[in-house]
Amino acid sequence: MSVQAKEVIQRRQEATNPLLEFQQQLREVCELLRYSPSVYELLKEPLRFFTVRIPVRMDDGTTKVFTGYRAQHNDAVGPTKGGIRFHPEVTAEEVKALAGWMSLKCGIADLPYGGGKGGVVCDPREMSTAELERLSRGYVRAVSQIVGPTKDIPAPDVFTNPQIMAWMMDEYSEIREFESPGFITGKPLVLGGSVGRETATSKGVYHIFNLVTERKGMLPQDARVIIQGFGNVGSYLAKFLHEQGVKIVGIGDANGAIYDEAGLDIPYLLERRDSFGVVTQLFADRITNQELLERPCDILIPAALGGQITAENAGRLSCRIVIEAANGPTTAEAERMLQERGIIVVPDILANSGGVIVSYFEWVQNNQGYYWDEATVDKMLREKMEGSFRKAYETAEQYSVDMRKAVYMVAVKRLAEAARVRGWAN
Ligand code: GLU
Repeated sequence: MSVQAKEVIQRRQEATNPLLEFQQQLREVCELLRYSPSVYELLKEPLRFFTVRIPVRMDDGTTKVFTGYRAQHNDAVGPTKGGIRFHPEVTAEEVKALAGWMSLKCGIADLPYGGGKGGVVCDPREMSTAELERLSRGYVRAVSQIVGPTKDIPAPDVFTNPQIMAWMMDEYSEIREFESPGFITGKPLVLGGSVGRETATSKGVYHIFNLVTERKGMLPQDARVIIQGFGNVGSYLAKFLHEQGVKIVGIGDANGAIYDEAGLDIPYLLERRDSFGVVTQLFADRITNQELLERPCDILIPAALGGQITAENAGRLSCRIVIEAANGPTTAEAERMLQERGIIVVPDILANSGGVIVSYFEWVQNNQGYYWDEATVDKMLREKMEGSFRKAYETAEQYSVDMRKAVYMVAVKRLAEAARVRGWAN
């Protein structure tokens, strides 16, 4: 593992426990909304959490047992929904927090879902395609009783992709003995995927970028942007922004980062990146991810893993706005420090909700068996992102709170209302 990759992991581990951060925010919002303690009690942890162990035959003939998780935060509004990540640093606490954040994402976007999340502790960069297929199928066999098109619908997340979704859908359909495209989203088009799903998270961040620059009276073309992460989200985002004439001055990946005040050659980087989004090894003048975050820019977009902006480096950030494309990149303490410095943070649960929004469109298309064209999906996504942004912005103004709290408020209200009419909270 490279020094930079170790550095990224170490920073994540030193950052505060994401579940405690979720609970802290939730408690504050429940108090602000004057809810009875029963609402906080209901929402502070997933309603269901599963740990599974998955034996997988490796190519060398040995067997390895992997640990996997699935969290279902709350299904008062509808079935749970959320991705599955394959990553060596996956932990139970992280999966629980991510499931809670998915509930909030579905809430602000007004989708008929609660939040779910899955993870497997593994390193796909060190596994063959055949091993990855056996692991994906093994995960589905392990959780098959608790997931399904009307129960809990998985999707891609860090280091999982349409091919993995295809194996998982195939395995689930075999177990259930009927074709079940609505069991999982982010599938290849030929298996019932939706046009626009692969680029949806980036497109959503791109819309937020335009909305927030407009509100702040900035011309997008004048903004200097740094994107940390060049995977599915970071790379498409770089492409969309570059096509709009935005100057991208820095990008980072698991190997390191590059920065150029004059702007980077985005088409070249897109062409040379590998399937895990790594490209910076081609450059001799590489800097570390830590240095990248602190380089001057107008808009900093973390699009990699959680726990990147911490109390340790928040004081040295040199940007005006942070747009969180990754899940949980800023710790609560760091966010407070950024606020004191007048730096706006557009939270993940709003900024990166494009992925789950188009996942919802995919699921609707699977259920109705009729598929929309790209222009329709694009337009519907833009309208959803604009609606969410407006709701968050107006709530923030009305209650004089930051945007993260505003999103929590809108989403928790909806969850609490559904829970109350079901008799789950008072
Ligand atoms: N994994 C993505 C997220 O964190 C997408 C989830 C989905 O499409 O269900 O939002």
